[in-house]
Amino acid sequence: MKCIYCNSEKVNKHGVLKTKRGKTLRYKCKGCNKTFTKRNSSINYRHRKQHLREAITKMYCERMSLRGIARTLNVSYPTVVKYFRENAELARKSNRKRLSEKGLVTSYVQFDQLETYEHTKRKPVGIQLSIRHKTGEIISAKAGYIPVRALAVSKAYSTKWNKMANQSNHTIKMIQETKKALNTKGSTISCDGYRPQIKLLKNICKQSFITIQPSMKEHKKIDRVFRRIRQDVSRLGRKTLSTTKRLEQLQNHLDLYTDYHNVRRAA
Ligand SMILES: [Zn+2]
Repeated sequence: MKCIYCNSEKVNKHGVLKTKRGKTLRYKCKGCNKTFTKRNSSINYRHRKQHLREAITKMYCERMSLRGIARTLNVSYPTVVKYFRENAELARKSNRKRLSEKGLVTSYVQFDQLETYEHTKRKPVGIQLSIRHKTGEIISAKAGYIPVRALAVSKAYSTKWNKMANQSNHTIKMIQETKKALNTKGSTISCDGYRPQIKLLKNICKQSFITIQPSMKEHKKIDRVFRRIRQDVSRLGRKTLSTTKRLEQLQNHLDLYTDYHNVRRAA
C-alpha cells in the first residue's frame, strides 16, 4: 500500500471506515500524516454519475454525439466529456492488456489507412489501422497528421503543414503495436502497395517469421471493418460537417472504440 498523496510506502493501518456499502480499512501515512482508504484511489471516487459510465461508452460507440448523450441522460456536457476521457484511458489499458496477454495472436494481419480531417480540410488526418483477419478484431488504430491533398489549400499553407505532418510517426506506433499480436511461428502482414509504408514495415519487422504481402488479396474483411468504423465513430462519418476538433480526442475515441468493438466481437 502506498500513500495516495505523497507516494510514501511508510503507511500504517488506521482503523476501519464504515459506510453504507460496508467496511473499508483506513490507512495513515507516516510521511504526511494524512489518512485514506482504498476507495480514494479508485477511479469512481466522488463520481456522482458513476452508474452512467458504461452507458456513455456504449452510446458514444453507437454513433451518438457527446452533447446528444448529455441531453439523453440529463447530465451536463462537461460530465460526459470527463467520462469519455476517463473511459478512453481505461480502454487503452484494456487494449494494452489484451495485446500483452496474447489475446489477439494471429498469423494473418491486414493494414490500411483511413483519411479524415482535424476541423478543416487544411488539416488532414490519417488513421493507420490493423485488423486480425480471422475475426475482424481491431489490433491497433493510430491517428496522426498527414500531408495536404486538397487542391483548394494555398501552397504556402500546405508547405508549412506538410513540414509538420509526419506520415511515419503514427504508422510506426501502429506497426509496433501490431507486432505484439503476430504469431512467432510464421505470420503474414497484408497491406496495399504504398511504398513508404512498406519501407517502414520492412525496417521494423526484420524477423524472419514475418512475411510482408504488398498486395491485398482478400480486401473484403478490412473494408467491412472500415465501414463499421465510419458508421459507428461519429467523428469519421462521411458528412461534410463531421470532423474532429482535436487529434488527441480522435485518438481517445479510437481507443475507446477498439475496446468496445473487440469486446462485442468476442461476446
Ligand atoms: Zn503521505
